[in-house]
Amino acid sequence: MNQVDVTIVGGGPCGLFASFYAGLRGMSVRIIDSLPELGGQLTALYPEKYVYDVPGFPKILAKDLAHDMIEQGLQFDPEVVLEQTANELIRTDDGYIIKTDGGLELPTKTVIISAGAGAFSPTKIGVEREDDYHGKGIHYGVRDKSIFQGKKLVIIGGGDSAFDWCLNLEDVAESITLVHRRDVFKAHEDSVEKVKASRVEMKIWYTVKELHGEDGLSGVTVENTQTKEREHLPADAAIVNIGFKSSLGPIKDWGLEIVKNQIQVDGRYQTNLPGVFAVGDVCAFDGKLKLIATGVGEAATAVCFAKQAIDPSAKLFPGHSSDMDLTTGHHS
Ligand SMILES: Cc1cc2nc3c(=O)[nH]c(=O)nc-3n(C[C@H](O)[C@H](O)[C@H](O)COP(=O)(O)OP(=O)(O)OC[C@H]3O[C@@H](n4cnc5c(N)ncnc54)[C@H](O)[C@@H]3O)c2cc1C
Repeated sequence: MNQVDVTIVGGGPCGLFASFYAGLRGMSVRIIDSLPELGGQLTALYPEKYVYDVPGFPKILAKDLAHDMIEQGLQFDPEVVLEQTANELIRTDDGYIIKTDGGLELPTKTVIISAGAGAFSPTKIGVEREDDYHGKGIHYGVRDKSIFQGKKLVIIGGGDSAFDWCLNLEDVAESITLVHRRDVFKAHEDSVEKVKASRVEMKIWYTVKELHGEDGLSGVTVENTQTKEREHLPADAAIVNIGFKSSLGPIKDWGLEIVKNQIQVDGRYQTNLPGVFAVGDVCAFDGKLKLIATGVGEAATAVCFAKQAIDPSAKLFPGHSSDMDLTTGHHS
């Protein structure tokens, strides 16, 4: 893998803005995220909630904001490495190598850590042999709708993702059964009404207890949480949408100064390691607010100091984007 000017660990709003700003400053960029999708908390935790405190948008759905931030963040064609958790940070003569859990070794001159509360991983249902069925019928997200074509599908969960996938996959799946452990849904009311009116069968007050199938999933056993009655549902695929866990995990072992699960930074968002910066929810300094509006400003500042760390003759303040030719990053 080639050495880039800056590697951004975490593709949430702050990492995406750092990617855009680094591109604007003519830097080569690599973004790493443990999830299959960019967008961080906006995409993973609250896609259907409105955000009211981002400049320029009196009111915007988190998923729409994520969509636009992804478009902006990818404007200068950064390399995007998804479904890889940055595990190790190794110092080299001219920067660092980041090793991922998938065995990649990614060289970089500088690093901006925008890891939020840490790498997200999907919450599992917690039944026997669940890992054996991963990719063989059990899914924790959807990257390609077509794999559910003509399938008997079980969707587990009561939040926006579960309901969105019911509605989105209705036209491809042979049948869909939504399994949820209670009669309260976190999903948007409008989506709940649409699913109720659709051909999706709803199994409310049920949890999945067993997975069946020789070489891949063929069915699940569900149990009524109140009566304890069990039932077998034929299923070729199940999508688990019961949330995410996050953990700073490996980043804690990178030799960074960690204060209460956050990385201590100075006024330049520089950590105690040279050329390594931290921005967004993951960083700690006096006066830190965990907000998108403030985090993206931290990202722009960190990028400018990373630029200077690579090229001490570079200006800290690049001027205004309105004066630049965005196709070249140069002033017009
Ligand atoms: C329910 C809810 C509502 C909110 N509403 C608002 C609001 O209205 N306005 C507002 O300003 N803020 C809001 N926030 C807070 C806002 O979402 C966060 O401040 C923002 O997402 C922080 O962005 P970030 O880029 O720092 O991190 P995140 O969005 O947390 O993204 C971090 C990314 O880094 C990845 N990552 C972490 N560690 C690794 C690793 N080792 N390797 C690879 N990838 C890694 C994660 O998978 C994740 O995708 C809300 C938060 C929640 C939970």
